Amino acid sequence: MPELPEVETTARLIRPGLVGRTVRGLEVNWVRSLGGRSVAEMEAALVGCRIARVGRRAKYVVIELERRGRPQGVVLVHLRMTGRLVVAGAREPVPEYAKVTLDLDRGRLYFLDVRKFGRFTYHPDAAEALAHLGPEPLDGPWSPRDFARALRARKRAIKPLLLDQSFLAGLGNIYVDESLFAARIHPAQPSDRVSLPKAQALFGEIQRVLAAAIEREGSSFDSFYRTPEGKPGAYQHLFQVYGRAGQPCSRCQTPIRRIVLGQRGTHFCPRCQVLSRRAQRT
Ligand SMILES: [Zn+2]
Repeated sequence: MPELPEVETTARLIRPGLVGRTVRGLEVNWVRSLGGRSVAEMEAALVGCRIARVGRRAKYVVIELERRGRPQGVVLVHLRMTGRLVVAGAREPVPEYAKVTLDLDRGRLYFLDVRKFGRFTYHPDAAEALAHLGPEPLDGPWSPRDFARALRARKRAIKPLLLDQSFLAGLGNIYVDESLFAARIHPAQPSDRVSLPKAQALFGEIQRVLAAAIEREGSSFDSFYRTPEGKPGAYQHLFQVYGRAGQPCSRCQTPIRRIVLGQRGTHFCPRCQVLSRRAQRT
């Protein structure tokens, strides 16, 4: 499932083909992709708008619209399991699994989705639509100390807390497991019992892991995630724990374990990431 690095890669690669384009029409092959909106509503909101900016917030691609220079709301795209965005020329054949097509004054934007859990919807007010999300881990408002304070003020197992989009935006199963391994913290460690230095170091590891994954255009460990150019990401070659159950830890050679925590498959090194019920000192 695409997380922050995959969504960031998608936004960066579709941006050059979209910014400055005008929406001429809309074709919908699966109305549920519109997240409760009708085709007529989407047409009324989008047709005639110019695409002003393309960005990312948490795991959403955010396409900002304007009319005569005035903001007109946003298209929010959530890729969920198998969603993809592809920009193509108007004369190129329509790709398979196209659920929504935007006809532009030059080219087209396709929302492809094999399993149909993704969403391509419109919201008139971006701030309202995204208000439930916590801070961004990269170039967000939090310093390592702010993060450590917020983390230690909660009383939850650390992995489910980091997956909670209202606490910190953009992380999913893969990058949480990888970051906790890097910071040597057990996934079930209560968040209020992580030491201040360790919590601050964790923020740095989250940023490092995410930046390295963006640099490699995300992770493709199954046949689903591909960049808008159709290429797999390359960060899966650097996984230390995710999907590596039974294989030796790169630091201590202990076999990586997989457990289920908060209904999610969770990977960690039982020797490097020790659960301590008492408050950690360092
Ligand atoms: Zn280890």
